[in-house]
Amino acid sequence: MPTLETLDISPGRVCLRDVRVVDIVSGHTTGPVNVIVEHGRIAAVDAPPQGVGIPAQNLTLVPGLIDCHSHILSPFLTKQEGFLGAWTMRQIGRNLRTNLASGVVLVLDMLSPIRIMNKVRWLVERGTLAGPEIRASGAILSCEGGYPEFIFPIPWPLAGIIGSPKYHLSSESDARKMVAYLHKCGADHIKIGYTSRPRDFHGPKMPVLKREILIAICDAAHALGLKVAVHHNWSCDIEPILEANPDSLEHQCNDQVITDEHLALVKKKGVAVTPTLTVGHNMAYFDQKTEFMRSQAASELFEPEAVEHLKFVADTWLDPNETSYQDVFGYWRGSHDVYDRATQTTRRLFEAGVPILCGTDFGAVTAFSGETADEVRRLSMHGLGNLEALRAATLRAAQHIGVDADYGSIEPGKRADFFLVEGDPLEDAAALRNVRMVAKSGRWYKPGGDTTTPMFNKGYAFK
Ligand SMILES: [Zn+2]
Repeated sequence: MPTLETLDISPGRVCLRDVRVVDIVSGHTTGPVNVIVEHGRIAAVDAPPQGVGIPAQNLTLVPGLIDCHSHILSPFLTKQEGFLGAWTMRQIGRNLRTNLASGVVLVLDMLSPIRIMNKVRWLVERGTLAGPEIRASGAILSCEGGYPEFIFPIPWPLAGIIGSPKYHLSSESDARKMVAYLHKCGADHIKIGYTSRPRDFHGPKMPVLKREILIAICDAAHALGLKVAVHHNWSCDIEPILEANPDSLEHQCNDQVITDEHLALVKKKGVAVTPTLTVGHNMAYFDQKTEFMRSQAASELFEPEAVEHLKFVADTWLDPNETSYQDVFGYWRGSHDVYDRATQTTRRLFEAGVPILCGTDFGAVTAFSGETADEVRRLSMHGLGNLEALRAATLRAAQHIGVDADYGSIEPGKRADFFLVEGDPLEDAAALRNVRMVAKSGRWYKPGGDTTTPMFNKGYAFK
């Protein structure tokens, strides 16, 4: 596991001395300045030195990263059963630590049962677990047999105690009650699964939420001030989803590069898109991960149960006779074409002015914590450039979530949740991997070892 040493720095007044600062608002990196932090908040940028000094010559201060699509629980790192073994809870600790060590200070969790997430959040807040702030959906909303059809609701009364990863809704009033219930339990946003086609696209259609239920979920969420994120995979689903006016589309269409017509609709509706290129990339190229899965780095990042399963996945990824995870990954397992369509769609969305958000989908088997910096690199490569890609993981993400008073940029008054890197990520996005120090909620950490998932075997190009 990447080490994360907690530094003995008083939470009072701290001065980062002679540090360069990524000013994400203006789009420039400053010359050396002093940044003053008081009790976990930024007090001043470019001020005379005061308080406890931390020398930061030759380092660059970057706003903490926000991962807008994550699965902290990662219940699928063994078999596709979603069973919560004791190892799952230990893996949660690893996921959180790796995220923080790689500069991630806030994650949107997309599916984990709300009561479990509340407990995890409590452990993070009191400092028992080192990790980013978690904003939780508490569950995914779908219908009987609907996506994700391989996840099942936990029955009551157990669901009342730990929550459930999924709820099936069959009426408008169910939808309104469920949104209110999740909100009352502490959910910060709402996640919907909507996929009308099976994974080979051509088989029998899958059930999806009825039009009026989809609309009721979005209306109820908006009335409570919650944003709605919708998982989608196929172009035929874009129109029915957007009719309900959600706030973001998660992933992209597997069957085609986004058409002009859909592009215009997405833009008109004002929704943001989280392309999750990293999970898409890893689905296409997971066979390249065999060497990594056998490495010491992998056994530091994952519990032994997960390592065993991931080795098996990497070894059999392109084996047509291996059907044990076919149900979950379908025909696009190993499909470079699907990934190419995703990158082209991302470029077209960005060029049309659609807000793009950074999300890895970590925890969904082929994407791992520690890859958020790589998602920034991918967004940069596929149309956004370094500045806009970093904005997708900082200021734009914070604005979308509604937390930009606290997060997203290095400005007086905001939380001093940021990290120091070697190099300048506005010149080279890969510099985001050179993390030297992280600050979160008034605590200061020094990462060591592999802080980001070294997913690439030697000899493969970054895509
Ligand atoms: Zn996901």
